[in-house]
Amino acid sequence: MLGGLAAKGQTPTPTPTQPQTDNILEDQKIADAVKRGATMEEIAQLRDPIARTPQEALRALKAGNARFFGGQARRPETSAAERRAQILGQTPFAVILACSDSRVPTEIVFDQGLGTLFITRVAGNVVEMGTTGSIEYAVNHLKTHIVIVLGHEGCGAVKAALLPAEERARETPSIQALLNEIVPSVSKIAKIRDEKAKLREAVVANVRQQVFNIKKQPAIQAAIASNKIAVVGAFYEITSGAVDFFETDEDLRIAQADYDSCAWRSHLTSLSDVCET
Ligand SMILES: [Zn+2]
Repeated sequence: MLGGLAAKGQTPTPTPTQPQTDNILEDQKIADAVKRGATMEEIAQLRDPIARTPQEALRALKAGNARFFGGQARRPETSAAERRAQILGQTPFAVILACSDSRVPTEIVFDQGLGTLFITRVAGNVVEMGTTGSIEYAVNHLKTHIVIVLGHEGCGAVKAALLPAEERARETPSIQALLNEIVPSVSKIAKIRDEKAKLREAVVANVRQQVFNIKKQPAIQAAIASNKIAVVGAFYEITSGAVDFFETDEDLRIAQADYDSCAWRSHLTSLSDVCET
């Protein structure tokens, strides 16, 4: 996997990252290029890529989150010339499957600027047809090096998936379909009395399941096998602003029962047709 860059549950601490001077020098290069009438293509080449490997991509996300929760966010802004140059194409280094929750604004949480993250958001950060297609597009056609499934503290979708079936049945068919993608992984978590701890465990179980679902896709398997990408889970703690990462096979292990009864199925197949719930 990723060489144990972070232990499970370990809260990252703000660390020195790419020196601010690097950005200033790049900004100066871009300003000089604009002055001499450089083309948009030339301007687009002037920024060094943020990451060239899965390991570098993960480090960049950890460093950005450390800046964010440490109160040192750069809120990277691109110059007007760079913004114009972005029309030539995009080169995001990371793909993130996150929840739609308004408290989890992904670029802000990882302190990233325009054109750096390819994000697909859906309540409960579940893998379904649209999110799978978005992730595969970024992996196959863009120079992304990592896929992150980002769950979060206090997730309303996961909380709803923990409700009794008769309560979930009162929701609209679309909401029920979404919750059905979450129910199998959260219905088998250990009995935990503390509601906050129980919800965290359920969110992490759902993250593990969605990572598993992504890794089952042949296109993703091929990209992992060639070390082009890694698929990693993560948990965003709203109260602190810190993100915990789940990188190793052990971190990402899902309950064996889920493997057996609900492993992978067609996106269009109703879960209730395949899995015990
Ligand atoms: Zn959520």
